[in-house]
Amino acid sequence: MSDSPEISASTLSSRARTIVLVVALLNLAGCLVEAGIAAAIGSASLFADAADFLEDFLINILVVTALGWSLASRRKASYVLAGLILIPACSAIGMAIWKMVTHEPPEALTLSATAVGAMIINLVCALLLAQLRNAGNALTRGAWLAARNDVAANLLILAAGVVTMFWFSAWPDIVVGLVIGVINLRAANEVFEQARAEDPELEED
Ligand SMILES: [Zn+2]
Repeated sequence: MSDSPEISASTLSSRARTIVLVVALLNLAGCLVEAGIAAAIGSASLFADAADFLEDFLINILVVTALGWSLASRRKASYVLAGLILIPACSAIGMAIWKMVTHEPPEALTLSATAVGAMIINLVCALLLAQLRNAGNALTRGAWLAARNDVAANLLILAAGVVTMFWFSAWPDIVVGLVIGVINLRAANEVFEQARAEDPELEED
């Protein structure tokens, strides 16, 4: 769930780059832990959120590494990124559909606890990025908005976990997994549209 990855990274200060890199690594760690737990307890919503962590990792890494690249290279990288984001987003939706077939509810307490853990990671990312939010940079503002939205997604997963404690059903997990998966698909589309919209002829410099 990241807005505006295709941003002029060249305007980022080295302090801002460090912050974005730390955020990238936090997202990678979140992805690995969450994907492991999702597989262990069979949760569609955690799997979708792990896909989101992966997507945010890729976007933040692109932001840091694309610094100084030519516009054409950055645009190409954005197309590749949009394609890469599609893979976890589609597999998250596939996982939700698979859960509809197997219909086994995830372990509710682990699901809720993992949602809280993921929320803490995303809150830290949002706080880190908030320091850059007023720098007048579209990138950092977009990244901050994305981290904030991810906290909201974690609240949805927590709600699914709590509901599952009282209503032993696979549906809360499946529904939240589908919601997060569809939002991630839209993010891939946004990256693609942005890359396409960035016409070199429209660029000022
Ligand atoms: Zn996200």
